[in-house]
Amino acid sequence: MTAWETALLARELRRYVPREAVLDEPAQLAPYECDGLSAYRQRPLLVVLPDAVEQVVHIVRHCAQQGVPIVARGAGTGLSGGALPLQNGILLSLAKFNKILSIDAHNRTARVQPGVRNLAISEAVAPLGLYYAPDPSSQIACTIGGNVAENSGGLHCLKYGLTVHNILKLEMITADGEPVTIGSNALDTPGYDLLALLTGSEGMLGIIVDVTVKLLPIPSCAKVIMASFDDVEKASDAVGHIIAEGIIPGGLEMMDNPSIRASEDFVHAGYDTEAAAILLCELDGTAEEVDDDVERVKQILAASGATGLRLARDEMQRQLFWSGRKAAFPAVGRISPDYYCMDGTIPRKRVGEVLKRIAELSAEYGLRVANVFHAGDGNLHPLILYDANIPGELERTEEFGGRILELCVEVGGTITGEHGVGIEKINQMCVQFEAGELNQFHAVKRAFDSRGLLNPGKAVPTLQRCAEFGAMHVHRGQEKFPELERF
Ligand SMILES: Cc1cc2nc3c(=O)[nH]c(=O)nc-3n(C[C@H](O)[C@H](O)[C@H](O)COP(=O)(O)OP(=O)(O)OC[C@H]3O[C@@H](n4cnc5c(N)ncnc54)[C@H](O)[C@@H]3O)c2cc1C
Repeated sequence: MTAWETALLARELRRYVPREAVLDEPAQLAPYECDGLSAYRQRPLLVVLPDAVEQVVHIVRHCAQQGVPIVARGAGTGLSGGALPLQNGILLSLAKFNKILSIDAHNRTARVQPGVRNLAISEAVAPLGLYYAPDPSSQIACTIGGNVAENSGGLHCLKYGLTVHNILKLEMITADGEPVTIGSNALDTPGYDLLALLTGSEGMLGIIVDVTVKLLPIPSCAKVIMASFDDVEKASDAVGHIIAEGIIPGGLEMMDNPSIRASEDFVHAGYDTEAAAILLCELDGTAEEVDDDVERVKQILAASGATGLRLARDEMQRQLFWSGRKAAFPAVGRISPDYYCMDGTIPRKRVGEVLKRIAELSAEYGLRVANVFHAGDGNLHPLILYDANIPGELERTEEFGGRILELCVEVGGTITGEHGVGIEKINQMCVQFEAGELNQFHAVKRAFDSRGLLNPGKAVPTLQRCAEFGAMHVHRGQEKFPELERF
């Protein structure tokens, strides 16, 4: 689009929103150039900040008429480039949709706008003894709209489910600018389960403008045990042993030594900096249940080879133990100029073996890795430490990251646990899926967005792209998508 055409688009969009709600100056656009995957940057044509659903409807309809792509954005904390702008598109920020519309303590639900921060929901309902369970480590900043679009997880998701399990209803604006309701206030809705389809759809099927979330009672008691291990594999095995005993902890997280040291230096949580790995295991419920589970878990951990066990002595120490885990990403950011956060999920019993393979790859690529992850879910987050100022190091990091994701697929897992595909993992979608499955994804996209104007180019690769990528990644001598022509 030429500068003149962009100026015209800005003028037209200002018919629907106040003048200052359309950003068009380079300095105004710069903060929106990237999301949490900051290695990729692109300035959008314009940033538009509506604050009413009717405005979103008008903007989407106008863009549909003009064939202008739209990328929705919440807080921009996504780690896979989902909210990365497009050169020829507008960025639609939902930041001004930041109101909690209603709280229904009786039905334990809340209706919120998409730009409400995840933590703000729990803070608002805490006086009623309730909370919203999915708690990404970014919960202080990330929005519920972004959480739905990414199907976000967090420390509590092992026991209480991901975003998809904790929402009831969405209002969204289709690619043609039609408002539609998905789901209902009841537990089940007839027809196709579009609520599940929309959850994790990465802004490609509609713009979410209203979310009804489920709330849970705050458990009357929660205790956390910190276990030290001298070997990462022993810690990984302990995770499997706890679950196999029929105990579902409220949170079960693991950190390896580089993560422990980085976090301890940052928040002084009282971690064992000599341990090869620590496990944080939270038990919640009634006081009797928790005391019983604490004893059982302690025995399992000891039998699994834990070298040290500490039970948080009070609520303050429990929060402190978790604060180190929640701050692990920024803590790692202090020990390396850059880091690249991977996100893959594997069967729990393969965690130890996969961590060993990651260590081997780390040596092969000459890049350090810190591991901090949702161990109970088998959701790995290897953080690859690199320096973007060293020529070629980003490319080597990306290749290393790609190999980790392919390893996840090889052991029966998936290339994403909770961070979405975005642009980061789009090539690995070709490793995860065959042509038949990808064709179904494209058919779904066409059904919702026939012109491909909502976040195009993200999450689902074209078969042609896979053919090109497949040419580079021949798995066990078998070329993927052999029927497609290579250029
Ligand atoms: C330090 C750190 C820790 C993190 N920890 C976790 C974690 O524990 N678990 C986890 O799951 N994630 C985690 N994340 C990733 C990230 O916070 C989540 O993916 C979060 O849900 C993104 O929310 P957001 O509001 O920032 O969305 P954005 O980054 O703005 O957008 C994410 C995607 O959602 C789409 N989108 C946003 N709003 C809408 C809307 N209203 N309608 C349609 N599409 C929309 C965007 O187009 C994009 O594709 C972490 C990130 C950081 C930086």
